Order: sequence, then structure tokens, then C-alpha cells
Amino acid sequence: MQLIDGKATADKIKQEIAAEVAEIVKNGGKRPHLAAVLVGHDGGSETYVAAKVKACEVCGFKSTLIRYESDVTEAQLLAKIDELNHDEDIDGFIVQLPLPKHIDEQKVIEAIDYRKDVDGFHPLNVGRMSIGLPCFVSATPAGIIELLKRYNVETSGKNCVVIGRSNIVGKPVATLMMQKGLDATVTVCHSRTKNLKEICRQADIIIAALGKPEFLTADMVKDGVVIVDVGTTRVPSTETKSGFRLKGDVKFDEVAPKCSYITPVPGGVGPMTICSLMKNTLLAGKGLLKNC
Ligand code: NAP
Repeated sequence: MQLIDGKATADKIKQEIAAEVAEIVKNGGKRPHLAAVLVGHDGGSETYVAAKVKACEVCGFKSTLIRYESDVTEAQLLAKIDELNHDEDIDGFIVQLPLPKHIDEQKVIEAIDYRKDVDGFHPLNVGRMSIGLPCFVSATPAGIIELLKRYNVETSGKNCVVIGRSNIVGKPVATLMMQKGLDATVTVCHSRTKNLKEICRQADIIIAALGKPEFLTADMVKDGVVIVDVGTTRVPSTETKSGFRLKGDVKFDEVAPKCSYITPVPGGVGPMTICSLMKNTLLAGKGLLKNC
């Protein structure tokens, strides 16, 4: 069994990005600039945005954090998005989700110029991804694919089971796995799927993204399977200072011995997510969709 080390891979990719940025700047090019909009003081969002700003520093990007209190109106937020869309210095920006209930998230996502949508949530980016056109792929699915590539995991002709059909993980990762180049035969499972255990037992690759701690057990997988555990659920713990720890969707101790490759939680898919956002920002800086 080989552990897929997302932290080490993400660190390496950030160094690669930093080297490329240094080269761009040395040759007189523009330093990529990412802006992040943060509404309110949700603990998780604060942590994610702080980590994104820190990653920008590591990669040599310029970053701008724009903060609003949770009573910001939808109109104020949309006006800021319009401003960012037209700000030539900003190559890409994100609006950290979730947003307060009185703001329509889909409206906000669709207000972002898709050429600056480095989160890859805009329907135009989603659509372009599904037909294989250049686009910003959302960070978690992009990170999963990058991990599989960097560990030379064979995907062509393999049976890949994705558990979960959310717009941010399950659907896009299933779409990517079936694209030409990756060439997996993909089955997408969800809460209404019948015979999930039998389906999983046929899988060469399982991508578990359902958010149910330790859902996938040893009796559900075959020997030699590749497991990507996307789940990150906070569970109470007496062993950590914070009083909680992150648990994946896979019962790691009993499943890992049957695997050829497996991602741990934490330290697997998680670190790759921010790293993929950095990659998208670099691509935005290089004008990926400028003429599209
Ligand atoms: P989500 O929107 O809640 O979607 C969960 C999906 O799992 C749904 O499609 C649901 O089916 C399916 N599901 C739930 N229970 C199931 C069951 N018993 N059997 C089969 N399918 C079941 O979650 P998400 O946003 O995709 O996130 C999934 C997990 O990944 C969460 O733990 C989240 O924290 C984590 N995550 C991690 C990262 C990272 O960077 N590491 C990024 C994003 C998400 P229905 O559609 O039928 O309801």
C-alpha cells in the first residue's frame, strides 16, 4: 500500500508555481494577483481564506482580502464583484462560500466574470470543462486528478466509482475521470443508489465524497483498489487542543491494507485544494481565457 501524500505534493507544486512566477517577473511580466472576498466571521471560512492568502505569499502572488460584515447586502456584494471584474490588476478572484442566507449564492457565482473565476464555479467554466475546453476547473476535483497523475495511478479503462454527486466535488470529478486522456469508466453513486457495496466492490478506483465519517469499510472494497478520500467531517476528539479532528469517509485502518494507493485525512486531498486554486490563479495571470 502506498500513501498518497497530498501535503508533500501540494508543497512541491507551490514551489513550482513560485519558480514560474519568479521567472515571469524577472522577464518583466506581471505578478499574478488574487483577490478574496470574505463575508462575516464564520470560523471555517476565516481559516480557509487565511490559508489562501498565505499560499499566495508562498507562490509569489499579490493578494487582496476584501472583508464585509454579514449584514452586507446582495446589491453591495454584486457591485464589488462588478468592480473586481473590471479591475485590470486583478487576474482572478473568489467569493468565499457559504454566504449569509439573505444573499443568493448562485447569483453571486454567475456575476463573476468567468475569465476571472478561479474557483471554477461559474456555469461557463463548468460547461467548458464538461466538453473539454480550456477552463478553470474547481479546486478539489482538479487537486484529486493532479494527485492521481503525480502518483502515476493508471486510470485508462479502469472502473472508477464516485460516491457523491455534489456540484463542487462528485459531478466535476466524475466528468474529469471520464474525459479523453483519463479514460476511466465512471459510475456515480448517491444517497438513492441501490447495491452500493456491490458497485464499490467492482471498483478499481473509489473517490469517496459523501461527508459520512468512516462510511467505506473493508468489506466494500476489493484488493488493490485505489482510494481517494475527500471527506472531511469535524468530529469531537479528546486528543486535540481544538477538541475536534477531521475524519474522512473511509475507515482508514481497515481499508488501507487492501489498497494499492490511498489518500489519508488529513493530509490527502485537503492540501491539494488550495494548491489548485493557486494553479488557476497562475493560469489566470497568464491569460488562460482572455480571448475566449
Ligand atoms: P454534499 O454536497 O453534502 O454531497 C454529498 C453527496 O453524498 C450527495 O450527493 C449525497 O447524495 C451523497 N451521499 C450522502 N449520503 C450518502 C450515502 N449514505 N450513500 C451514498 N451517497 C451518499 O457534500 P460535498 O460538498 O460534495 O462534500 C463531500 C465531503 O467532502 C464532505 O465531507 C466535505 O467536507 C468534503 N470536502 C472536502 C474538500 C477538501 O478540500 N478536502 C473539499 C470539498 C468537500 P444525494 O445527492 O442523493 O443527497
